[in-house]
Amino acid sequence: MFNADLHCHSNVSDGTLTPMAVAERAKANGVDIWALTDHDEINGIAAARAAAAALDLRYVSGVEISITWANQTIHIVGLQIDETNPQLLQGLATTRGGRERRAREMATQLAAVGIPGAFEGALKHVGNPDLISRTHFARYLVEIGRCVDTSEVFRNFLTEGNPGYVPHRWATLEQSVRWIRGAGGLAVVAHPGRYKLSSLAFGAFFDEFKQLGGSAIEVITGSHTPDQYGYYVKVAVDYGFLASRGSDFHSPTESRVDLGGLPPLPDNVTPIWHDW
Ligand code: AMP
Ligand code: MN
Ligand code: MN
Ligand code: MN
Repeated sequence: MFNADLHCHSNVSDGTLTPMAVAERAKANGVDIWALTDHDEINGIAAARAAAAALDLRYVSGVEISITWANQTIHIVGLQIDETNPQLLQGLATTRGGRERRAREMATQLAAVGIPGAFEGALKHVGNPDLISRTHFARYLVEIGRCVDTSEVFRNFLTEGNPGYVPHRWATLEQSVRWIRGAGGLAVVAHPGRYKLSSLAFGAFFDEFKQLGGSAIEVITGSHTPDQYGYYVKVAVDYGFLASRGSDFHSPTESRVDLGGLPPLPDNVTPIWHDW
């Protein structure tokens, strides 16, 4: 099997390992082609590319952009991007921009339910001060013993209807696809099975993504159940999308799926790497 892992995170966003350590783990786990896709941030790419070259690991530049569509947060992965493209850099900087204010509001809410100091606590887990995320708050809540693991955190805090949830407006779908394509990249819908959209809304979303020039969807991801693999194979075939595969690895102790540890893409879809 050709082992592609085209979605994962380093401590430049909300992963716990450095880009170099992620590269080493990918190599050790038998990954043949690898992309680091930090949230809204390309600052890990230079180190990731250098580490991959030293390890003789094929490397593809990547990013995972947060967008808001129909009041839902959705993630769009960009692959094979030119990370020096000025419009992409500007767009990502704007997307990151509201994170600190949002984090302060999250901390205010948590303080109101008896968890003081969460902003400072989350910051201790942050590798890149520009990118404070819910994951860093989750690690703090585990650190202080409020929850046993980050999954328990996301079931009880930081998500819609729970303390610490602050609605946020990210980039638009149109912007994310324009920035990625403008930087020579391919746009991919990350973990589609995670979004709570009706089937009608999903249809509208995929139609719009296709029409904007989106290329692919993740079919095999750490976020999908085996049933969902089959469902998104059908979506890829119906819409003519290429299929991608990525673990969404964040940390050796938190991630359910390790780098390179997913089943192969089914035969009846075209891999996004088919002509690389
Ligand atoms: P943010 O970009 O600050 O909204 O944080 C989003 C990140 O939180 C995602 O990329 C995941 O790493 C993590 N996350 C969100 N929901 C969950 C969940 N239910 N379980 C585990 N991690 C989650
Ligand atoms: Mn994440
Ligand atoms: Mn994501
Ligand atoms: Mn991700």
